[in-house]
Amino acid sequence: MKKIRLAHLYPKLLNIYGDGGNILTLKKRCEWRGIEIEIDEINIGDNIKEHDIYFIGGGQDLQQIEVSKELQKHKEFLTEERDKMAVFLGICGGYQLMGHYYQPHNGDKLLGISLMDAYTVAGNKRFIGNVTVQTELVEPNTLVGFENHSGLTYLQGETEALGKMVIGNGNNGKDGTEGARFKNVFGTYMHGSFLPKNPHFADYLIELALGSKPEPLDDTIENLTHNSLVNKKY
Ligand code: GLN
Repeated sequence: MKKIRLAHLYPKLLNIYGDGGNILTLKKRCEWRGIEIEIDEINIGDNIKEHDIYFIGGGQDLQQIEVSKELQKHKEFLTEERDKMAVFLGICGGYQLMGHYYQPHNGDKLLGISLMDAYTVAGNKRFIGNVTVQTELVEPNTLVGFENHSGLTYLQGETEALGKMVIGNGNNGKDGTEGARFKNVFGTYMHGSFLPKNPHFADYLIELALGSKPEPLDDTIENLTHNSLVNKKY
């Protein structure tokens, strides 16, 4: 069975609200199936070689400034990876940097790497709380998590939302969308961390990376957790 190579981008800077739990989920869900998974931490100054999955977590504006500058060095390579249908998952601040730019409240615009046709501008209020999303991408068709951001993200062109907001604010609190997808690039505002509470979405990413559907696992506990959070406002 094919090995999965997973790159964790800038974990020392963008790894807020337990986003590292997404890496653990992918690691365990591969290991439980006997799928070999190789995880590389990519930090500032490191070169980036080819991987099957790229993960980037969330963070405060300050850390995003440093990562925004570093990512520009790898924009061409990561765009080629996107076009070869590599899988990307960006959470919140990492999601924002996969678009064209993030304009924070103060200071200059932070350039993203335009893996998806989206942009983000800081809003006047912070969106904090539980999130439930209705999605067509996976079964069950719900995704749950926790949001904490002031950035308002707007999708353009062929970039589609992950799903529709049921509980929470999502991309911008106005258009009823949450997250984004273009090719195999996914972004979401859902911390939590996201994948442990959405094992079906974790398996969807593994399927895209492997090129075949992984065998099912006993997700009794994970599904109990997921279902306990669906439509949970507080
Ligand atoms: N700093 C960005 C914002 O406030 C992202 C925050 C985050 O990653 N939780 O929108």
